Amino acid sequence: MTNQFDRLLADPRVTFAGGVDVGGSGGGGACAPMPLPLSAVRSCFDAVILAHGAEGDASLSIPGAGLTGVLSARAFVLWSNGHPDADAERVGEAVASARSVVVVGAGNVALDCARLLLRPAVDLATTDIARDALAALDAGAASRRVSILARRGAPAAAFTAKELREVTRLPGVAVGVAPPALPPAPTDPGDAATLAGSRGRARVYGILAGLPVVGGENDENDPSTRPSLTFRFLRSPTAFLPSPTAPDRVGAVAVDATSVVGGRAVPDASAPPPPPLPADLVLVSVGFRTPPLAGAPFDEAACVVPSGPGGRVREDAHPPPSLAPLYITGWARRGPSGIIGTNLADADDVASAVAADAAALAGGAPRGGVASLPLPRGAPVTAAGWAAIDDAERVAGAAIGAPRVKLTTWEALMAVARRGG
Ligand code: NAP
Repeated sequence: MTNQFDRLLADPRVTFAGGVDVGGSGGGGACAPMPLPLSAVRSCFDAVILAHGAEGDASLSIPGAGLTGVLSARAFVLWSNGHPDADAERVGEAVASARSVVVVGAGNVALDCARLLLRPAVDLATTDIARDALAALDAGAASRRVSILARRGAPAAAFTAKELREVTRLPGVAVGVAPPALPPAPTDPGDAATLAGSRGRARVYGILAGLPVVGGENDENDPSTRPSLTFRFLRSPTAFLPSPTAPDRVGAVAVDATSVVGGRAVPDASAPPPPPLPADLVLVSVGFRTPPLAGAPFDEAACVVPSGPGGRVREDAHPPPSLAPLYITGWARRGPSGIIGTNLADADDVASAVAADAAALAGGAPRGGVASLPLPRGAPVTAAGWAAIDDAERVAGAAIGAPRVKLTTWEALMAVARRGG
């Protein structure tokens, strides 16, 4: 990823202006990015492409969501990446003491979380993971049990095959599926049709069906001290339950057995009620949400910026000629799904639309570009500042045999960026 940035920023036609908060969503504490109205950006350029993604979480409103030890997958990922907005103390403490972990949701983010929780620290040490996170993940990793909870069956799992295969090969980790065993091919005609219509889903199902069946409803009584990863299908969380010894902390997850009706998970009244799953850490990984960006249209129902072909943003009223048209790409255009390749294709589509519109876009009075942006104080982070951060992190990493050691506070990042120029 950083190599892509290097190539792009080396192009003399590209100007990087980091540390600017378009629309002013906040964050950053004392070193907060400079707020800038979208209208100000639109008046300085001939076209503006929004690519702001989905920085909010889809939430799970069930009792106990506020207990200590219940975290969003995003909070966990920000922390492990050393993001300066992470709540490092809270997440680090919860992870270091975690032995029984339930990850709610069966997508690639859930797999990413499980991989970090179970990957041996010696392997993680040679990655760019935040150093504090490494220590917390290592504590207790040798006997950590992770369950991935899926409200629908294996044919509906949202994993991709490559990512799933990687976690099934984690060294020293017992990976399995909770009973009942998955048949080599699903017996339900709807499930069979789903797999027949998607090579990706069929591959994922094949990997899951090849895993051993392990434990029972919960593996509390399993004497094994090996770390484990168990996929639990057709289980939907109904409440996070407090620990009997520390009532402000999570101790278990109450679940319903489910069946799938018309593609949706519904409680299965015919199944015996499953016992709660022990959990001293819960990661809620049920997808993301794009919040509205001030000054841009927003489709509240779909949580996206409404657009037509080529990502041309649909606006209720024609913008005045002083404001450049908007384009939208990525998760804020399509919703929070798709791997990097999906976003590449999306970006290509939007770039082609801008190129096709170029003659008309540049027809008015010349605009001032980056130099004319009304930034209130000082300079934003330049390409040189970005490179200075990159260099500082790499140098620190080289000293300990890691690709980089991340700077994890806004103060440290901004201080190094300012030294860079
Ligand atoms: P996702 O793929 O949409 O998966 C979300 C999961 O949460 C689904 O299993 C969904 O189940 C479940 N869920 C949603 N609401 C729920 C609820 N109320 N109760 C229980 N379960 C619920 O989302 P994601 O994992 O956050 O990933 C987002 C996108 O990023 C995906 O397209 C993913 O492939 C991509 N990604 C890719 C990579 C990679 O390529 N390495 C890494 C990370 C993420 P239902 O299906 O039943 O709704």
